[in-house]
Amino acid sequence: MGPGVLSTNSAAFHRQGDDLFCEDVDLAALVEQHGTPLYVYSRTAIQERYRELDWALSPVPHLIAYSVKANGNLGVLRALAEMGAGADIVSGGELHRALLAGIPAERIVFSGVGKTAPEMAAALDAGIHGFNVESEGELRLLSEIAHQRGVRAPVALRVNPDVQSPTPHAYTRTGHAATKFGIPMARALELYREAATLPGIHVRGVDVHIGSQILQPDPYLLALVQVLELVEQLAHEGIGLDYLDLGGGLGIAYTGEEGISASAFADAIIPHVESKGLQLVVEPGRYIVGAAGLLITRVLYIKEGGGKRFVITDAGMNDLLRPSHYEGYHRVELVGRRGRERVLADVVGPICETGDFLALDREIELPEPGDLLAIHTVGAYGFSMSSTYNQRPRPAEVLVEDDKAMLVRRRETIEDLVAGEVGL
Ligand SMILES: *Cc1c(COP(=O)(O)O)cnc(C)c1O
Repeated sequence: MGPGVLSTNSAAFHRQGDDLFCEDVDLAALVEQHGTPLYVYSRTAIQERYRELDWALSPVPHLIAYSVKANGNLGVLRALAEMGAGADIVSGGELHRALLAGIPAERIVFSGVGKTAPEMAAALDAGIHGFNVESEGELRLLSEIAHQRGVRAPVALRVNPDVQSPTPHAYTRTGHAATKFGIPMARALELYREAATLPGIHVRGVDVHIGSQILQPDPYLLALVQVLELVEQLAHEGIGLDYLDLGGGLGIAYTGEEGISASAFADAIIPHVESKGLQLVVEPGRYIVGAAGLLITRVLYIKEGGGKRFVITDAGMNDLLRPSHYEGYHRVELVGRRGRERVLADVVGPICETGDFLALDREIELPEPGDLLAIHTVGAYGFSMSSTYNQRPRPAEVLVEDDKAMLVRRRETIEDLVAGEVGL
């Protein structure tokens, strides 16, 4: 398949007549079976996104380490494992999930500022591709643990190139100097020298992750140039690297903006790395799954007050945190019959918090109690950030492929909510 025939616009969600479909599955019918709130993912769309990026990076040896924290459902991970994906993990729990889903250990990279000794041990025993080390303390502990086990931990240092990534919310910026992430560029050389002398460390790569929802290639390029300078300095000192991890953060379209395309990213990056003899690792999360998921919720009540109209739904911030945590924008539409009067409304959940909303001051078609709403572009950081706050069982998740809908996580029950509590 050549780039010319590769589809870039998946029809994951579309209308057939008045009805909203995921691939060939009628969403209203799906809700009859599984209830609300319900997360629905298009397996085909997930695989298409993976394929697009894989294709764009094909001129260089590369590893797409999907960021499990974006959406760690085993069904989603299996769909990606099938494509040959690796995983970027940030905990022992994610390691367990990735392995369980059939992602080979040698395609797993371990990121995160607070890895614990047992997590390091588990990842060493599994035989992962590499650890993205974020501090001196972590480096020394990892060396000790690996040395005790008679192995060397494959390591990349996560450097902080002090790039102000233009991501829409401060909480998703990680590349500037004043975040908790990474090792300041000025300290990197020194720490690499130490790493090269540690008995339990095998220095293999360099890593950078500048933030999330990045819509232009430029910040990547700025970071890359600095990182390549470091690679060269290291080579002069006899510290040869074999991979370069550029992190995740590829942005998608939530509203009018355009997402970054795999080819724009690749065209900017590849000319700088192809002659370097380095494997290119990327850690996309949102880019792969974001647009492939939606959340269906039922309207409970319509209420007016204080000059505002509230649409109260059975999904709240415990089910989808992005609107309140990141001021995330998600398109909202009626699942069924359309053509109603358009009104301005706040779409809010049932949680006892003013911050519990899905959309504020949004122009939508006026729903009635009982109607279903689709909240779009929630495949990433949707379910994975959900909680049981207010003692609300977490939603079910369904993975759709063609006309098949597979329940990949059953709805939690009231019993699940108290199951772990002991000593009563
Ligand atoms: C969260 C994260 C990612 C994925 O970010 P996206 O914006 O979802 O692509 C990749 N790498 C690291 C280190 C992360 O923390």
